[in-house]
Order: sequence, then C-alpha cells, then structure tokens
Amino acid sequence: MRQGFDTRAIHDGQEFDPTTGAIIPPIYQTSTFVQDGIGGLRGGYEYGRSGNPTRSSLETLLASLEGGRRAFSFSSGLAAEDALLRAVLKPGDHVVLGNDVYGGTHRLINRVHGAWGVRNTTVDLGDLNAVEGALATPGTRILWIETPSNPLMKISDIAALADLGHAAGALVVVDNTFASPALQQPLALGADVIVHSTTKYLGGHSDVIGGALVIDDEELAGNVGFIQFAAGAVSSPMDAWLTVRGIKTLGVRMARHSENAQAIAEALVGHPAIEAVYYPGLPTHPGHELAARQMSGFGGMLSVALAGGAPAARRFAESTTVFQLAESLGGVESLIGYPSEMTHASVRGTELEVSDNVIRLSVGIEDVADLLADIEGALPR
Ligand SMILES: *Cc1c(COP(=O)(O)O)cnc(C)c1O
Repeated sequence: MRQGFDTRAIHDGQEFDPTTGAIIPPIYQTSTFVQDGIGGLRGGYEYGRSGNPTRSSLETLLASLEGGRRAFSFSSGLAAEDALLRAVLKPGDHVVLGNDVYGGTHRLINRVHGAWGVRNTTVDLGDLNAVEGALATPGTRILWIETPSNPLMKISDIAALADLGHAAGALVVVDNTFASPALQQPLALGADVIVHSTTKYLGGHSDVIGGALVIDDEELAGNVGFIQFAAGAVSSPMDAWLTVRGIKTLGVRMARHSENAQAIAEALVGHPAIEAVYYPGLPTHPGHELAARQMSGFGGMLSVALAGGAPAARRFAESTTVFQLAESLGGVESLIGYPSEMTHASVRGTELEVSDNVIRLSVGIEDVADLLADIEGALPR
C-alpha cells in the first residue's frame, strides 16, 4: 500500500546516510565527483550541473508528493517555467493562459518567448467556451492553468480544462504554487505537468528561491531533463536541502494556514471597513463548491477590498505589525501586500490589472488571536 502524504513528505528521497548513519542526508556541497577510472561514476554522479545527490533527494520527494514519475528542480520558479517552455515550444507555437496568471509567467511567455515568435492568448479560465475558442488557434501547444489565482483566488476546474486542452492536442500545465500538493493534486485530475515556485509553501520558511516541474510522461521528462542540463538553471545543493527540510512539515503547515485564513476571512465578512473578502473557503465565494471538490483545504491566501478605496488600502497595508509588508507568500510568517503597486505593478493598464483598493494577505501559522488583533487594529474604524 502507498504510504500517506505526511509519511512520504518526511521519508521519500531522504534515506539516512549509509556511511555514518546520520539520519539526515548530508548536503553534498560539491561541484564534481571523483571517478574510479575513466567513466567509473559512483551512483551516476559526474558534475554538479548534470546531477547532485541533494538535488536528487528533492526531486524524488517532489515526484512522490505530486504523484508523477519525474521531477526537476531549478534555481527559481521562473527558471523552471522557462525550461518547460523551451522543451515544448518552437517559433510560431501558441500558448493559452488565464487572464489572471502570475505576472512573471505572463512576462516570460509574452516578452521573452514572444521575442522568439511564440504567440499567446489570455482568456478567462472560468469561461470554457472562450477557452475552447482560444485553444482552436492553429499551433496551440500549451494550456496554462493557475488555481487558486492571484490575488482574487479564482478557482478553475482542472479536470474540465484538462479535457478541453487534450481534445485540442495541447499539453496541460498547472501552476500548483498556491495550493501545494498537500491541498491539490493536479496530475490526478488530468494535468500533464506541474509547475512550482518552491520559494512559497514548499520551502515554507522564506529563506530560499526555487522552482520545480513534475512530469509523468517519460519522453517529455527526457526533453525537460536535457534543457535542465544544457541550460543549467539548477538549484544549488544548499537550496535543495533547505527545501527538503521545509517540505517535511508541509502537511501540518497547510492545515494551519487554511485554519487561520478561514478564521480571518470569516471575521472580515461584514466588517464596515471591508467591501469584499476573496477566500475560497467562504460559501459566498463563486469558486467555493469547485474548490471543495478539487482541493482538500482552502489554503492560506486571501484578499480583501477596502471600502475606503486606495487611501484606506495603503494605510491598512502600512499599519499591521505581525503581518509584515513584503512581496512573496507561503512562509510561516504572515505577510501583507498591495498588489496594484507591488506584485501586480507590471500589469497596470492591462487586463491583468488589480483594483487599487485590494490588499493581499499571506496568512502565516502564528496564533490566530494575534493575527486577528493585528488586522482589526489596523483597519479604519
Ligand atoms: C512566485 C510565483 C512564481 C515564480 O516563482 P519564483 O520562484 O519567484 O521565480 C510562479 N507562479 C506563482 C503562482 C508564484 O506565486
């Protein structure tokens, strides 16, 4: 019988060191590997860009947690995305992506790959007819899904979209950064590739930048492995080790993140300073039922729109003390952000623009009473 998620998070890819018995595998902080005669490699390791045992440990672990055959770890989430795009696309190809996709993903596809002749269409992933129409564009190779989305936590139907993508002959990619494999398993829902910014929940402690791809198909995995080796944006041994260290507690962290975010969302509904709360755990959220079906928890990210407009939103973001004002998300510590001038500043004036009264919270795992007191103290009354 396959072991449970939390058991695998703590043990897979993490066998104790056979020479010393050290329960935690060492960090193989090395660039190269001594050969027993020419071509006599120990365990297949030759040079640190092509492979390193600490990176292998993380890759084995990620493949297990997402339920894929192979995983590849990179120096950032965008480096992972870039490797996938280069492995799949050629000039003239077309990508369909959500109109609320992570801004950096849009920039990479639109500006970097766009300069090499890759075309893209952004579409509302909740409108299946519109998705089908965009997928009919000749040369479509990828359908790119991100759910829950940033910052309004829109939920997209992975299984339905995967069917549409496959019917059009496209590869179905899911950016699983916001949910993490603890709450959402896209490969089991029909996706072909998982993308992660491991910087966020997987690492979980705001101390490392990293990314990963998880793939079930052997041929595609071979092509991605070649780009990882040939272009070289691999994760360092130290970064891979820190990420494995973080993942051990992923299950308990995600449960606590979800519990705290749910309590805060419920406390803010109906608050006079708040115009709207965006959290999939609220029954009033348009994606609530789908999220309840597709995820095993609603996660730690929520956004609010302030009734007092941009000035009230800015004041709120600058007044909390436990919630610290910073980019990024997914760490044990709570963060607060102003998307229109921070994470989403680069998409102002486009259809990806975020309203200037919206504040995003990455709810950490501190005591919920302290988080609630911090928020209530910082809101206009
Ligand atoms: C942060 C993020 C990325 C990019 O990852 P980096 O590690 O910053 O390169 C991609 N997708 C989502 C959803 C993210 O939040």
